[in-house]
This record gives sequence, C-alpha cells and structure tokens, in this order.
Amino acid sequence: MPFDALVLRQHEGKTQAQVESLELDALPAGDVLIKVDYSSLNYKDGLAITGKGKIVRDFPMVPGVDLAGEVVESEADAYPVGSQVILTGWSVGERYWGGYAQYMRVQSKWLVPLPDGLSTREAMILGTAGLTAQLCVQRLQNAGITPDQGPVIVTGASGGVGSLAVSLLAQQGFKVHALSTKAQASAQLKALGAEEVILWADFMQEAPKMLEKSIWAAGVDTVGGDTLAKVLAQTQYNACIAAVGLAQSPALNTSVMPFILRGASLLGVDSVMQPYAQRLAAWEALAKNMAREHLQSVAAEICLAELPEYAEAITEGKIRGRVLVKL
Ligand code: NDP
Repeated sequence: MPFDALVLRQHEGKTQAQVESLELDALPAGDVLIKVDYSSLNYKDGLAITGKGKIVRDFPMVPGVDLAGEVVESEADAYPVGSQVILTGWSVGERYWGGYAQYMRVQSKWLVPLPDGLSTREAMILGTAGLTAQLCVQRLQNAGITPDQGPVIVTGASGGVGSLAVSLLAQQGFKVHALSTKAQASAQLKALGAEEVILWADFMQEAPKMLEKSIWAAGVDTVGGDTLAKVLAQTQYNACIAAVGLAQSPALNTSVMPFILRGASLLGVDSVMQPYAQRLAAWEALAKNMAREHLQSVAAEICLAELPEYAEAITEGKIRGRVLVKL
C-alpha cells in the first residue's frame, strides 16, 4: 500500500526535500504503526527542511517533529489498535523518522494518549509549540509568579510558541505584553488576550543596558539574543523569565546585574526530552485550558507539497501563528 511522505536527501552537500511514495516496509522499526492525521511546522522543522540548521544527521530522513493520528498496528499494550495518540520531540524528525508521512512506525514510549476533548487536528495546532508554551506557563507558576505581580512579556509573540503562550497566559489571568516584529499581527495578538502589543523596532531602539527601568514580573522568550538581554535588564525584583528559543540568536550578552541586584531568574524550558509524566500533565492542562477559538484563529493548513515553501518562510520569521500539515 503506497503512501506519501516528505523525504529529505543530501545532494552535493545540500538538503533536498521532495514528496515521495513509500511502502510500509520502508518505515523504521517500532512497536506501533500510526496512520498520521496531522503534523505541524515548527521553527526546527524549517531548519531541517531547508538545511539551514544542522538538525538532520542521517539521510534519507522523513522530518516533522510532531504527529497525531491513530494506531493501526500495535505490539504495545498501552496503545491498542484504534488508540488516538500524539508524538512530539524525542528527536523524532531529527534522528528518527517523523511526522511528514501518511503512515509512520515509532516507539510507543514516545507517545502520549490524545487527551479527552482534543481532536488530532487541535493537538497539532498545538504541537511542540503548544506543549512548550504550556511548560513555560507551568515553569513560571511553579516559581510562584502570579498575575497580581505585574506585566508578563512574550517575545516572538506572533510565532507558534509565542502566540500560544500569549493565549495561555491571558487565560490564566496574566497581563500579557506581546512583543512582535510585525505591526500587522497586533489585532490578532489582542484577540488572543494581549493587553499591549509592543513593536520590536521600538523596544530595541537602544542597545540593552545592564539595568533598565523595572517592568516585567515574568516573561516567555522565544528569540534569545539582544531581545532577551533587554528583557532581563527590565526585570522587576524577583522576576522569572522562561528562555525557550533562539529565533533571533543563540547568543546572550548580558551581565549578572539583573540576577544579583533584582533577584531575577532565567528558567530554561525544553520540550524535546520532557519525561512522560510531565508531558502527559502538560497535554491534559492544554486540553483543559486552551481556548478553542484561539486555536482555530492561529492555524493555517497546508499539504506535504507546500512544506518546502513554508519551511523557508518560518526560518525567515515570516510565519504568523501555527502551520498545520494535513496528511
Ligand atoms: P516561529 O518561527 O513560529 O516563531 C518565532 C518568532 O520569533 C517569529 O514569528 C517572530 O515573531 C520572532 N522572530 C523571528 N526572527 C526574529 C528576529 N531576528 N528578531 C526578533 N524576533 C524574531 O517559531 P516557533 O514558535 O516554532 O519557535 C520559536 C523558538 O523556540 C525557536 O527558536 C525554536 O527553536 C524554539 N523552540 C524551543 C523549544 C524547546 O523545547 N526549548 C520547543 C519549540 C520551539 P514576531 O514577528 O512576532 O516578532
């Protein structure tokens, strides 16, 4: 039974992406076979497909760090045939074949069951971005941050992680200030619950100083670089900033001043290797807390053949919200 997959191959040192027809016996070993309903496009997928980042080491590779679908063959007691499942992270789409295929065989230890009340489509509008946004919110809340402490900044706010973080934080009662390079994203960010939208060009008019006026009780940073340095310089006393991405730069040139004079904390968040129990809890929280109308409003839907074009766009910071891939 042939099916479609996006396959990455290397030709003269360059990554080439093409939709190919595969047979089930071409798939890697694993204890469950999944009929994939949806995948999604994340920044990392963009780097993998375009070859702009060293994400994929072994070729040929089926990329796609996310997938959701139904188990159609199983040797795993926890996931009988007919189970609906989600897979994000665990280096799938990087070291192991991933979600850009109509069928994929994977290891059941990477799966979580689809939470009650969430469709596979909604799960992939969320995907790695939603899981990561939820982990950031939990990290801030576990650190004791509460809405009465003051405004929370979200950087890269119109991107996947950013827009879902804006929505989740606003749902939890936080006053969210959304930082975006895109003036045209302002109305959508307000609709997701942002109290203020700050234009990145205004925010970054002056290079970050060691300390600036205290503003932020907390933050979710998806871009790194000087933007994060500026956010740190503007922290309130005892603020917590969740650092999750590097869309601007992996570099961080800052000083110890926000940490030693304001008691600020920089909290790293990783979704890829997150243990099962925490993953499950985060997905259940997402199913409970995520505003369904926000999910629909941030989603664009594409097919496998459109991935190379969208991959280029996401690496250039041109995508708004989440890109859903229908298999
Ligand atoms: P997106 O491309 O969807 O979002 C990134 C956003 O960052 C863009 O939409 C843009 O938003 C902003 N941006 C892009 N380039 C620049 C720039 N040069 N300067 C300032 N802002 C910029 O990506 P994702 O949401 O999928 O991922 C965001 C980051 O988080 C990535 O670095 C990704 O690798 C990382 N990530 C980390 C995870 C983890 O587990 N730690 C999991 C998921 C993602 P705007 O125009 O609104 O400013």
